[in-house]
Order: sequence, then C-alpha cells, then structure tokens
Amino acid sequence: MHMATVLQPEALHRIGYGLYVVTSRSNGNANGQIANALMQVCADPLAVAVCLNKQNLTHEYVAASRVFAASVLSEATPLPFIGRFGFKSGRTLHKLDLVGTLRGITGVPVVTDYATAYIEVEVDRELDVWTHTLFVGKVVAASILTEERAMSYAYYHDVKRGLTPRSAPSYVEHHTNKEESAVSKYECTVCGYIYDPSAGDPDGGVEPGTAFEDVPGDWVCPVCGAGKSEFKKLKD
Ligand code: FE
Repeated sequence: MHMATVLQPEALHRIGYGLYVVTSRSNGNANGQIANALMQVCADPLAVAVCLNKQNLTHEYVAASRVFAASVLSEATPLPFIGRFGFKSGRTLHKLDLVGTLRGITGVPVVTDYATAYIEVEVDRELDVWTHTLFVGKVVAASILTEERAMSYAYYHDVKRGLTPRSAPSYVEHHTNKEESAVSKYECTVCGYIYDPSAGDPDGGVEPGTAFEDVPGDWVCPVCGAGKSEFKKLKD
C-alpha cells in the first residue's frame, strides 16, 4: 500500500516534556535558562541529557565548565519567573539576582524558588545537533525540595498559557486567531504573548474586558516583563 508523505510538525507537540531552569557557571559568572528538553538517559550510571541552544549564554557556560544544575519547576511557578529565565538573555541581565539559590557541590548556583527538586550534573559527552548541543552527563547530586507537582510542558502551555521562545528546540511559528474579538489584540514583540482584551490579565490586575489602551501604563507583559510600549497592535 502506498503511503502519502505527511509531515505535520504539530505531531511533535504530542511529545511530553517538563519545565526546568538549567544553570551553569564559568569564570566566576553564573547564568540560567529555561529548558524543556531534559531527560534521564541511563540508570547505572545515573545520567541525564539536556539540549541547549548554541546561542544561549548558559550553553557557553556548560561547554566551558562541564557542569550544570537543573531545577524541576513546580506547577505553582508564576509566568514572570519563567519569563525571566526563558525570554531574557544573561548577556543583558543578571538573571540569578533576586532569585533563591543554593550553592551546589559543582559550584553551580541551583535555583530553589518554585523548584520541587534539583539535580546536578557533570558533563561526560556531548552531541552536536545542528542549532543545539545535547549535553550528557552523570548525576552527582539530586534532592527533592517540596512535595509539589512538577510542571509538565503541556500544563505550562494549556493551563498557564505560556509560550515557547524561538530559541527552544520545540519552537514552531504560531498563528493566532484574530477573529474572535471586536477589540484589538496586542502582541508582545519580545516574547510573542498576545494581550486579549476579552481575557485581560487578572493576575496582573487587569480585568477581563479591558481594552489595551486602558491597561495601566506600568503594566508589564506577564510572560517576559516587557513594558506596554513593546507591544504592537495585531491587524483586526
Ligand atoms: Fe512578553
């Protein structure tokens, strides 16, 4: 039987992931980023792999120091916290300032805020995967911090309505439905978050039904923290 060739990138959305803050250090500096592509690859030795974008500062640090930590985020993690690590570069912001950390045995600052567990890894081998590097290493420390449930990537997308940055391995161009509201939606030019007047941003103090023009001037993007001026109007 002849099979038609199909290639639906959306099929890959059915792959399950978690949500992690991966931190590393180099020459006295430290940085962290959000990663979803992390998994255990071996039980003996206990080993994990993480896939990081080559353009990210954290990638540079892991490549140099050969150590990283991964904090498993809980479902309670607020979007701005994820935005801080997922949509901003450590080249322009000391992302670990004002964030709870502990110093791991690898010397990497491990993020403890909203973390339900963490692991520390010594990189043993790596694989070049086009835009990314897959770092594989042995777990040298691991600890449970709280009994909260770990956030799955599906929960982040579907319940928290979070977004995927362009630098993530699982990023795909997204298209938004611009039909459903008579009032204009606005898109964050930094992270792609869409402000929908019918939904407002209750967590940010903006009632549903608030037009973008009426949103307070000090309101910030709930995902990445960008100011109102960084939003652009979507065509109706
Ligand atoms: Fe944003």
